[in-house]
Amino acid sequence: MEEQLKDILVRGTAWDGKIRVFAVRTTNIVEELRRRHDSFPTATAALGRTLSVGAMMGAMLKGKERLTIQVKGDGPIGQVVVDANANGEIRGYVDHPQAHHASNDKGKLDVAGAVGTSGYIHVTKDLGLKEPYRGSVPLISGELAEDFTYYFAVSEQTPSAVGVGVLVENDNSVLHAGGYIVQLMPGLADAEITRLEQAVAKMPPVTTLLAQGQTPEDLLRWLVGEDLVIHDTMPLVFKCQCSEERVEQTLISLGESELRMIIEDDARAEVVCHFCNEKYSFGKDRLEQLLVQAKPKPVQ
Ligand SMILES: [Zn+2]
Repeated sequence: MEEQLKDILVRGTAWDGKIRVFAVRTTNIVEELRRRHDSFPTATAALGRTLSVGAMMGAMLKGKERLTIQVKGDGPIGQVVVDANANGEIRGYVDHPQAHHASNDKGKLDVAGAVGTSGYIHVTKDLGLKEPYRGSVPLISGELAEDFTYYFAVSEQTPSAVGVGVLVENDNSVLHAGGYIVQLMPGLADAEITRLEQAVAKMPPVTTLLAQGQTPEDLLRWLVGEDLVIHDTMPLVFKCQCSEERVEQTLISLGESELRMIIEDDARAEVVCHFCNEKYSFGKDRLEQLLVQAKPKPVQ
C-alpha cells in the first residue's frame, strides 16, 4: 500500500491574470466520507465530485464565509449535500448512500443515473450579510462537471471549465479523487478561449492523471501550459461542525412538551449527524437536565 498523499488545494492565475485556476486532490476526504456513510461506488463518485467542486468554491470565499451545495436530482441516491468554507474545511453526505446503480455503457460509474438528470443545483453562501446569497440552476446532465460548468456560467456569470473525478477500488474504497476549475476573466482573446477549449478537450480524465502520480498543479499545466502562476497551496480537511453541545441545543429547542414526551416514551434519545454519521446518545438523567432548560412551545 503506497502512502497516501495529503489532500490539498492549489490556486493561481495564468495568461496575464486573464485566467483564474483552482485544482484539488480530495482522495482522503472522499474516502473518509465513504467510510463514514458506507457509500456504494456511484454515490461515492457523486459525493466526491460535488465535494471537489465545493472545496474549490470554498477557496473563492474569504474569512468566515461559508457555502452549501445541494444537488437535488430525481435519481435513486437523493440529494447530495456539501458544506465548505474558506479554510479548506469540508463535509458532505448523500441521502441514500447505498442506492445501487449499474455502470453505464462505457463501463464507468453511472453518476448521472445515480444523481438523476432532472432537478436542481442550489448554492447557498453565507457571506456574513443579513441574507445569504442563493443561486440555483437546473441540472443539465447529472454527471456534475457539466452541471457546475453551467452553474458558473448562468448563476455567477463566470465562464468556466470544470473537471472532477473519483476512482473507486473493487472493495469500494476511494483510490483517487480530485478536480479543477478554470475561470475566464474578462479580456481573453477569442484565440485564447479556443486554445483553452482545445486543452480541456485533449486532457485525459482527472483520475487517470492522479493515478499516474500527477499533482493538482500538474492538472492545471495540462490546461494552461507553463504560464501558470501558483499563488498558494492550502491543506483540505474533513471537518464536521457537529458537537455534543450543538445537539443538546437542538434537543432543548424542541421545547418542553416534546422533550417530556421523549423522556416518557423512550427514556433516552439518539441523534445522528447527517453529515458525519456521528451518534450522540442521551440517557434519561441528561434529558431531564435539558428539560429544565427547555421552554414551553408557544401554542400556534
Ligand atoms: Zn457531524
